[in-house]
Amino acid sequence: MRFLFSCLLLVLTLSVHAQKEPKLKLTDLSEFNFQIITPDSLKAETITNQDTLTVKPKDIKSEYWDHTVYNPYKDVDLEFPLQLKFKDTTYYSPIGKSKVVTSRYGWRRGRPHKGIDIDLVTGDSLFAMFDGIVRMSRYSRGHGKTVVVRHYNGLETVYAHLSEYGVKENDSIVRGQYLGKGGVSGNARGSHLHLVVNYKGVAINPEYLFEFNDSNTIRSNELWVTRRWTRPIVHNSKRQSKIEPLLSEEEAIASLIKQQSIYVVKPGDTLSRISKRNNVSIASLCKTNTITRSSVLRIGQKLVIEK
Ligand SMILES: [Zn+2]
Repeated sequence: MRFLFSCLLLVLTLSVHAQKEPKLKLTDLSEFNFQIITPDSLKAETITNQDTLTVKPKDIKSEYWDHTVYNPYKDVDLEFPLQLKFKDTTYYSPIGKSKVVTSRYGWRRGRPHKGIDIDLVTGDSLFAMFDGIVRMSRYSRGHGKTVVVRHYNGLETVYAHLSEYGVKENDSIVRGQYLGKGGVSGNARGSHLHLVVNYKGVAINPEYLFEFNDSNTIRSNELWVTRRWTRPIVHNSKRQSKIEPLLSEEEAIASLIKQQSIYVVKPGDTLSRISKRNNVSIASLCKTNTITRSSVLRIGQKLVIEK
């Protein structure tokens, strides 16, 4: 810009010298009619929900705002139970027809499936579930063409396997806004929307938060998420997990106590055997009990199994 401006000045100066009686003055630049369009000015025109105006976009862009990686929160260690708040009672459906869930959040073919698959036809329009800002709109390994929207309550929704982008990174968007077209890009078996709900880089089973039927209901304005709702291993992609939303911190902590059991180490036990026998990962065993994979287990030692 500065270079162009210098060139313009040079041309003006040359024309002054060439013509002796200059017809152009510097003030004539005003006739170029520059117009500055900012995302904020666009947002102000399209916004319908007054509550959103109280939160400035910079608040959610102030940290971990990286367009190039799917998860910029790698160094964040989340504490559970964590609280999520919603100002609405419904979300905007990401697709424009009845939602058919073809695969759920959970364990699938020996691997974690960290989203929910919603059937669609390539070319179907996709829409933002909530107000937010586009953090990512680019190809992401496995997910194919992907749009990630960060919302004002800290959640991010991820729309994967698109055939066409409808938004750019840093675009401010409102709920229901067009994001792009669905498809089969990336690692997808047939056209569908792979929808992920992340909080600071950790995927949450979306069905714990939202009802995926025509009511588009958010289960509560305030929900407490335990680690269980982030772990694909304790869910099955073929059936819906039993959902009892935790509406207060007390309920969340009480549920944690219920889900814990104690395992007493027997002769010949290894972490791997305990992990298999209790259907809990070695990583989880280590974290819950603050031990490492190489720790020596004592016979009679008590381990907490958290499910
Ligand atoms: Zn999927």
